[in-house]
Amino acid sequence: MEADLIVCATGRATPLGRWLAAIGAGPIAEERAECGLTHYSRHYRLRSGLVLPAGPWMLGGPRGETPGFSFAVFPGDNRTFSLMQTVRADDRALHNLHQENAFTTAASAQAPLGPFLECADPITPVRQMGRLHSQWRSLVAGGHPAVLGLHLVGDVQCHTNPVYGHGASDAVSHAHHLAQIVDQHPDLRDQALAYDVAVSTNTRTRFQVAAVEDRDRLRHWTGELTEGDITPDRSIALYQRHVIYPAAACDPILARAVCRQINLLDPGDSLQHNPEILARAARAAPHLAQPPCPPAPSCCTGLTPVTASKSGGEPLTERLGACAQTPFLPGADRHGLGPIPAPARACRCVLAVSFMLSNDHS
Ligand SMILES: Cc1cc2nc3c(=O)[nH]c(=O)nc-3n(C[C@H](O)[C@H](O)[C@H](O)COP(=O)(O)OP(=O)(O)OC[C@H]3O[C@@H](n4cnc5c(N)ncnc54)[C@H](O)[C@@H]3O)c2cc1C
Repeated sequence: MEADLIVCATGRATPLGRWLAAIGAGPIAEERAECGLTHYSRHYRLRSGLVLPAGPWMLGGPRGETPGFSFAVFPGDNRTFSLMQTVRADDRALHNLHQENAFTTAASAQAPLGPFLECADPITPVRQMGRLHSQWRSLVAGGHPAVLGLHLVGDVQCHTNPVYGHGASDAVSHAHHLAQIVDQHPDLRDQALAYDVAVSTNTRTRFQVAAVEDRDRLRHWTGELTEGDITPDRSIALYQRHVIYPAAACDPILARAVCRQINLLDPGDSLQHNPEILARAARAAPHLAQPPCPPAPSCCTGLTPVTASKSGGEPLTERLGACAQTPFLPGADRHGLGPIPAPARACRCVLAVSFMLSNDHS
């Protein structure tokens, strides 16, 4: 195909490698990491006259995690929401969550999800998303473009665990940068280098941060990392997720910094390298109190594996029932965000508003 410029926006399952090989182009710079998770999700619609259960949730719905299992609710439009449950990719015993009764049984065992299941009806089957990995690419390797007149936009350039919710914003941001760069640099080589500087450095940092969080989550879920390892020195990724994020609910400075990072306004490692953020989180940490979770064996091993039969719900309830009593975040209440001291209520409002403003901005 003859073209002045080709924008490759072919997503995660791109045929890019084949195309480059066919014209003998390369090498390109590429990094890949497995997420190690399988997500199961299902959409629901609220019954007539009912509204979404309210709660102190920063992202619109409750979330919970215990080693080996997590869940999240995502409110949608048109009176819908989706419910996602996530397990380890190698946890064969929980891999029948794609069955509707097993999915519902597991969800019912999580206290914050009960009110959601009671006020809505499923409108889709359970969808499974496995073989997840993160990947970053640049057509510029070692300072040399592997091919000219071709640009990668969106997931084909970089994608991470979808649970981080970066991809759509990134894709729009790439397109915006590319339009400017093509205007400013008529020379194809200059274009390639300028796009690499504008996009690839930023996404590579985000890829690396996501890959480390996925790795450390698995190490935590398998017991290799314990609660005592959730420190800036031993696992900054877990510290960010389990301490900095919840602490943001009580500290407007942290809230702003967290919102800026998760909404891609700041680099993916901006929290981890900011001494003020770490100091503020450390000050808040004792007030978040309580060990977040029991060790994995108490709730996630040694129980009867779930069978593929329709009656497979009981062992699953037994297995996840213990998780239901486990708080999500340090000091979590039944909604998974911790008891809310009075000043923090105001902070959560600030956080929610800030989150919306950041979204608008990006
Ligand atoms: C379960 C899930 C949840 C997500 N949640 C969020 C979220 O909350 N927030 C967020 O920002 N992002 C989220 N994402 C990520 C987001 O969906 C992607 O980052 C975004 O869709 C990427 O857009 P894209 O155009 O690069 O790729 P895609 O949307 O994958 O589009 C690529 C298109 O190219 C087509 N294609 C591929 N090869 C060819 C070919 N040879 N010829 C012609 N067409 C081809 C494909 O069929 C596809 O239509 C989520 C992703 C998943 C899977």
